Amino acid sequence: MTAPIRIGREVSRVDANEKHNSDVYPELKELLMRNQRWAKHTNARDPSFFPRHYPGQRPEVLWIGCSDARVPETMIMGSQPGDIFVHRGIANLYTPNDDSLNAVLMIALINFKVKHIIVGGHSNCVGCQTALRASLLPPVPETQAIQRYLKPLTQLARLMATEEGPPSLDLLVEENVAQQVTNLLASQVVQDDWKRRGQFGVTVHGWVYQLENGIVRDLGVSQGPPTAKPGGRRMGVRFF
Ligand SMILES: [Zn+2]
Repeated sequence: MTAPIRIGREVSRVDANEKHNSDVYPELKELLMRNQRWAKHTNARDPSFFPRHYPGQRPEVLWIGCSDARVPETMIMGSQPGDIFVHRGIANLYTPNDDSLNAVLMIALINFKVKHIIVGGHSNCVGCQTALRASLLPPVPETQAIQRYLKPLTQLARLMATEEGPPSLDLLVEENVAQQVTNLLASQVVQDDWKRRGQFGVTVHGWVYQLENGIVRDLGVSQGPPTAKPGGRRMGVRFF
């Protein structure tokens, strides 16, 4: 006889802290303790918080950001869980063959019909630093994942170099954000969204978070569907 399928709350759960080996992983024990404090505090402040979030989400914004631990989008934007749909990867890159991000884009645009996509770069980005350093060296075969992944950014840094030298890190960070906005605007997923939603289609924006002072700067490269009001200037170079 087949066992009944159990989902959601019927699945038995153990208390993570009871089972956790805190002698071996004390730092994870600390994280779990912090989670318990957060859950307790959140529930005390707003008893409807968890019941309200459990059934589903309705984010209006998709944030495409960097994996950097210093740039947690929900926290720096003063937002709450449920407000922002998120994809984060090294140096907030988008390429058409990135199916992880393509899938996120599809869910954001088709299911949630988000109004805005924000490419969120940040100052002192290690991904940009790495690409900038690589751009100063002769090209080599990309044998490692990080080299293959950063190739478009390394190419961008090379293109930005002048007789006076390579671009500054700050300039590369900004241009990279603008480039990803351009890449997203040209993507099949965004183009399909504009066909589907016409003038109400998604608008793509480029922002940079300044680690120095916590302020997010709008680069003014926003662009929505061609039938909508113009929202900014186009920047960047098309690689695809
Ligand atoms: Zn970064």
